[in-house]
Amino acid sequence: MKENDYDLFVIGAGSGGVRAARMAAGFGARVAVAEDRYMGGTCVNVGCVPKKLYVYASEFSKSFSDARNYGWDSSKPAFDWVTLRENKKAEISRLNGIYERLLDGVKVDVINGRGRIVDAHTVAVGEREFTADTILIATGGWPHIPQFPGSEHAITSNEVFDLEQFPERLVIVGGGYIAVEFAGIFNGLGSRVTQLYRGPLFLRGFDPDIRAHAAREIAKSGVELRFEVNVESITPGPGGLELRLTDGSTIEADTVLYATGRKANLEGLGLENVGVEIGEFGTLVVDEHYRTGEPSIFALGDVTGGMELTPVALAEGMAFARRQFGGTENTVDYDFIPTAVFCQPNIGTVGFTEEEARARFGHIRLFKSTFKPMKHTISGRDEQTFMKLIVDKASDRVVGVHMMGPDAGEIMQGIAIALRAGATKALFDSTIGIHPTAAEEFVTMREAWTED
Ligand code: FAD
Ligand code: NDP
Repeated sequence: MKENDYDLFVIGAGSGGVRAARMAAGFGARVAVAEDRYMGGTCVNVGCVPKKLYVYASEFSKSFSDARNYGWDSSKPAFDWVTLRENKKAEISRLNGIYERLLDGVKVDVINGRGRIVDAHTVAVGEREFTADTILIATGGWPHIPQFPGSEHAITSNEVFDLEQFPERLVIVGGGYIAVEFAGIFNGLGSRVTQLYRGPLFLRGFDPDIRAHAAREIAKSGVELRFEVNVESITPGPGGLELRLTDGSTIEADTVLYATGRKANLEGLGLENVGVEIGEFGTLVVDEHYRTGEPSIFALGDVTGGMELTPVALAEGMAFARRQFGGTENTVDYDFIPTAVFCQPNIGTVGFTEEEARARFGHIRLFKSTFKPMKHTISGRDEQTFMKLIVDKASDRVVGVHMMGPDAGEIMQGIAIALRAGATKALFDSTIGIHPTAAEEFVTMREAWTED
């Protein structure tokens, strides 16, 4: 019988696909990756990396004014969008090159073009066909804009990084990670930002105290937050885009950014040719080893739903490669995955929300603290940090930690290790703090705010 061209054919060179390909090749497998857009996928090109660079850019504006009461005679310098955009482009190109070299270094063949599955062991890219023992679908997600009159005038996170013109007036629709992060970015860069959310309070799924605190802080920072409202239509007019809203009001904007979730990227993938099942939310159904209903085809990362985060896709890619090509049993532990929303200040969170903890453990103790960060005692900035610990009363285990404040994302990484190790509140209490930091508050919250 003729040997297949490859041991593994990966469709999609994003976070999960590249990690799986590199590791499988490291175990000696013959590997190819098809990519039709950009090396490194969403995270590197239109996600985590450019987003964080833009967050850094936008934070400067507050730092310039914070500095004045510290003795710096600073007037606020002018911001130039083109400089930021072009420097961002150069950095992303550098990263694209690194990804290409990483794959080249372990002899993975990169095939430029869109992969289409022909049968359980064949992938077509353009006119060419490749056979493989195993096919891995790692095609990620794609932004979704609901259809309504004028929806074609809205842009998504795919376009927002490279806008030709800086939007002086920006409307953002949605109340999840992307909407909240970009409201902070463009507010900091100097746009007049209005964020519209269809429900009573944004950031659904986060702890209720964090959601309420975030609404207060983000509104104070200058973003106009409007809840319980949606867009009915967008019409181009002489003064820009005119949005008619469900509450009967209208609003004008230069740019309308829709951040209303992402859908699995399955377009033209040829799934009708194989036994791969698509689940209720339009994502691919896989077992705990990422195998689809077609035994030779696997899928991981955003295309399978779950927590759509780069470190999760990376972990899945590693577990898949180790098990299929490295001869080691390996599964991803999805408990206590920390996450951050890079709004300003950041939200960092790990473990259960208050509602989830109460449902799961019955009796819980809550510890909360709200305070002005030391830096702002002199800067004069009106900003409050919020911290919350949730403790299972029976075991004394800390089962949820939530924070909104400077560097919450950085702080939460270490806290996540403690929670995964089963740290109790007593252990938190006996840990010596680092003074003066905000993080020390996590080991000095003595009095329960409430218990039941
Ligand atoms: P992707 O990285 O999306 O890679 C999929 C790749 O497959 C793409 O390169 C695509 O072009 C390619 N592809 C698709 N179909 C085909 C085909 N048929 N043939 C060939 N190639 C194909 N996560 C975090 O952890 N932290 C963050 O701060 C963060 N910020 C984000 C900000 C934004 C604006 C967005 C949109 C996402 C962010 N994420 C963040 C999420 C993170 O980017 C994703 O979870 C991660 O990229 C998923 O990796 P993946 O490998 O599943 O898919
Ligand atoms: P999310 O799922 O986080 O949020 C989507 C938002 O859009 C929700 O507020 C939702 O409202 C709202 N929405 C959905 N449909 C409509 C509609 N028809 N009309 C009005 N509003 C609507 O998606 P994002 O696009 O923000 O981000 C996608 C994923 O990418 C995130 O879930 C996250 O996993 C990942 N990501 C991670 C980041 C990080 O780690 N820092 C940063 C950015 C993205 P409702 O709540 O009512 O359903």
